[in-house]
Amino acid sequence: MKVKNNIILAMDLMDLASAESVCESINQYIDTIKIGYPLTLAEGLKTIGLFKENFGYKVICDYKVADIPATNEKIANLTFDAGADAIICHGFVGPDSVEACKASAEDHGKEVFLLTEMSHPGAIRFLQKDADDIARMGVEMGISNYVAPSTRPDRLSEIRDIVGKDSFIISPGVGTQGGDPKETLKYSNALIIGRSIYNAEDPETATKDIIDSIQ
Ligand code: C5P
Repeated sequence: MKVKNNIILAMDLMDLASAESVCESINQYIDTIKIGYPLTLAEGLKTIGLFKENFGYKVICDYKVADIPATNEKIANLTFDAGADAIICHGFVGPDSVEACKASAEDHGKEVFLLTEMSHPGAIRFLQKDADDIARMGVEMGISNYVAPSTRPDRLSEIRDIVGKDSFIISPGVGTQGGDPKETLKYSNALIIGRSIYNAEDPETATKDIIDSIQ
């Protein structure tokens, strides 16, 4: 996936009008958006198509799919049928569940991202100890897209070593959660940034400042 300016907007505002207003103000700087449960549950799956039609964005659906294979397949099919370009699935559920998302992505000619380790403090307790193994599983399964945390560059670096230089890593946690944009891009292909942009007084200036800081 190619991401303009290496920035993916994490759009977790919960009404479409506010979300679109932010997108309008930073449209020239981004071409990829990540939406998750907040906006989808508030406004429906139609938001995927709207971002594609109104802005021409690539849409990554961060549904952190983590169910049995049969249910994962249904979730992924609905997401891709709604127009998503990619879906994020959890790795801790194991290879059969991940395979269901991967197969759905392949059937639709779309992409799957494997979530290895999360960016928040609580991820240290359970997820971190298995994150390397989750990344290794992804490599064994032939997955080339990963999500890994910007909040812990040492962990991000280890995950990069496991998935290899040709894999595509996207990293949340920049800004509000403490991750540094430039440091993150030493190991990651693109930054996922939400509140630092959409909650900024001036989202355009906030976006420009981040772009300046990574050049
Ligand atoms: O507002 P902020 O920039 O912290 O948003 C980060 C986004 O990335 C949110 O949508 C959050 O759900 C998501 N995310 C994360 N850490 C992960 C996976 C996804 O923060 N490991």
